Amino acid sequence: MPEKEVLKPKRVRRSAPAALFTLSTCLSEMPGVGEKRWQAFQEARLFTVIDLLRIAPRRYEDRTRLLPLSALLPSSEPQGVFRARLAKLTVNHFGFHKCVIYADFEDSSGVVRARWFNQPYLAKSLIEGKTYYLFGREFTLKGVSALDNPELEVQEDDPEPGLTPVYPSSRPLSAARLSPKQLRSLIKLVLKSMDWGQTFPDLAPESPFPKIRQAFEFLHRPPTLPHVDQAKNTLAFLDQVLFQMGVLLRREKLSGRRDLPSEAPAQPAEPGYPLPFELTGDQKLALGRILLDLATDKPMNRLLQGDVGSGKTLVAFLAMRRFAERLRPGDQCAMMAPTEPLARQHFQTFLRFFPECRAQSALLTGETPKQERKALCTGLNSGEVRFLFGTHALFQEKVDIPRLGFCLIDEQQRFGVEHRRSLLGKSRRPEYQIPHLLLISATPIPRSLSLTLFGDLDLSIIREKPPGRQPILTQLIVTREQAFPDITRTLDRKAQVYYLCPLISASGKTDWASVEERCLALRAAFPNRRIERLTGKDPVEQKTDVLARFARHEIDILVATTIIEVGIDHPNASLMVIENAERFGLSQLHQLRGRVGRGTDQASCLLITAAGDSSERLQVLVKSEDGFVIAMEDLRLRGAGDLVGVRQSGLSHPAFASIDKPELIERARKRAHELLDDPNHETRDWFLAKMRESFGPEYLTFMDGG
Ligand code: ADP
Ligand code: MG
Repeated sequence: MPEKEVLKPKRVRRSAPAALFTLSTCLSEMPGVGEKRWQAFQEARLFTVIDLLRIAPRRYEDRTRLLPLSALLPSSEPQGVFRARLAKLTVNHFGFHKCVIYADFEDSSGVVRARWFNQPYLAKSLIEGKTYYLFGREFTLKGVSALDNPELEVQEDDPEPGLTPVYPSSRPLSAARLSPKQLRSLIKLVLKSMDWGQTFPDLAPESPFPKIRQAFEFLHRPPTLPHVDQAKNTLAFLDQVLFQMGVLLRREKLSGRRDLPSEAPAQPAEPGYPLPFELTGDQKLALGRILLDLATDKPMNRLLQGDVGSGKTLVAFLAMRRFAERLRPGDQCAMMAPTEPLARQHFQTFLRFFPECRAQSALLTGETPKQERKALCTGLNSGEVRFLFGTHALFQEKVDIPRLGFCLIDEQQRFGVEHRRSLLGKSRRPEYQIPHLLLISATPIPRSLSLTLFGDLDLSIIREKPPGRQPILTQLIVTREQAFPDITRTLDRKAQVYYLCPLISASGKTDWASVEERCLALRAAFPNRRIERLTGKDPVEQKTDVLARFARHEIDILVATTIIEVGIDHPNASLMVIENAERFGLSQLHQLRGRVGRGTDQASCLLITAAGDSSERLQVLVKSEDGFVIAMEDLRLRGAGDLVGVRQSGLSHPAFASIDKPELIERARKRAHELLDDPNHETRDWFLAKMRESFGPEYLTFMDGG
């Protein structure tokens, strides 16, 4: 028997069916794919068979159920597929590269005219006498129903039973003369020649693979439309499982924990130090949870979220003290903030609450004078300094924090991975290779984002605000003069005003408001008031001085850029005016607005925008003061990148296509956790390999915590 096989002539093999493909077959190995098409595939970011099979058809045509041309009715939606013979073609050229094509189609029921503008190449491919499938919108041409700019495809072979997929056209692919129709043939060929057995390690019915295989088949050759939905759900779930596997592996790498991140509340904790007020219930729960983590040897990897003004900073301070004085006496804490004023404010607020900690506390920024820095480093080395506050300077300088056991990063979305890494790397404690990490988010994050981008972190949420806060009245206005009466009223009440502009100085390119111009304009309009400016470009001494004078109420109106977006806490400021509000994200505006309403005075926020009341997006801010609701809206309108900062890797992962489906994400997360521990190593390894591929070149950055 084996001998016979050996004797078989080679020819038999050559005439055997085309090579079999697996999901990871490179597209350059496909028949009909030469150098040029392979180039085009790469440009379109299609590398292997799975990439090709992941192209979702734009729509499906039921070519077994055709409409007669006589059925075309006035409607703004396409009504179905027609099949008709092209009877007559007319091309009228006018002007340079401009033309209009009229084509008269006929079937046994009647005649319909189709029209296209400026598609000269289409005219070349249309041939009178041939039969085409047509799909498009009706419009009325000289009183008769006609087809406007329909999609069309020449009829060649007999339609297959079921639905015909119509693929999207893409620029690189059409440049390589790979039309949607040819894409269909290629995908059809691939599906016919798939070696599923080689693709998946275990096709037993209870393994996850039969479902994935079926999804690919249903996506491209669905018997009915509900099968398409089923396929899309399966593939979205697959993407999410792959992403969540990455997330959970990252968690293990960064914190040594293999469990699913938990949101379980702990026992509430009392502050442990005298405070001028009672902690809110949520503050106590968050503190309890953090203290529980800090008491263990596994490094904490936790995200503290809460709406602006909910008192996150104070929770962080209390955790620092409890850690360095009671849990790990003598250990050091470093709290990093994205801007110099904010770092300085944290330092000062900390000392305001805990003046007894002065000798153990220090501030380090890029501006700290050399002498002072030297003394500070000595204090850090001897362990005398336990509470270090600072900016990026904490890791840019040659600073050693030998007993660093607890890192806190405020406004975490403003830092990149490399920052987090190098701060964590400061510790010289052998007991912890990695210090505890608490990330504090200024922006409330919708649940789906918490579970994806920050899915490796344990999560604490403060929803409750300290009692006594009044709602901030928010209004949309069109001109800045409309803000003047409110400014006057606010100043007359001896309260202060923030006036925010998108630019520092006027730009030739846009007419957005600038701090420089508005300073002049406001000084002219309010000659007896003290008006100062604050921008990120000002020298640091000036910034510090201006903020200090604002705090002492030596300034009435502070004209500033978004530098005041984060953290700045002055209870006497009760009016926020924002120019060109349309150019900011909703969550950012919500942050800015959160700078007022910190005292007992009625606070308001005026958003100046040309569209005024009719800006639907900005109306969200008028209607809601719930940061989570606003963030959800931002996510819907502007995508995840806007909410979490551009530096997050992983954002281009296909899993983000289902960012609006938190239940799917949660299910996928559980599945990912199971798969990582799957005793069938072949199955697990298959998923791990696909997981790496799914992240593409960003994989390593993502794993590093980016
Ligand atoms: P966040 O950092 O969440 O924006 P902050 O920690 O800056 O909020 O708190 C805002 C203000 O509320 C601060 O002035 C802070 O001292 C005060 N605060 C915090 N917790 C409470 C509380 N439980 N009761 C009253 N005021 C509080
Ligand atoms: Mg804060």
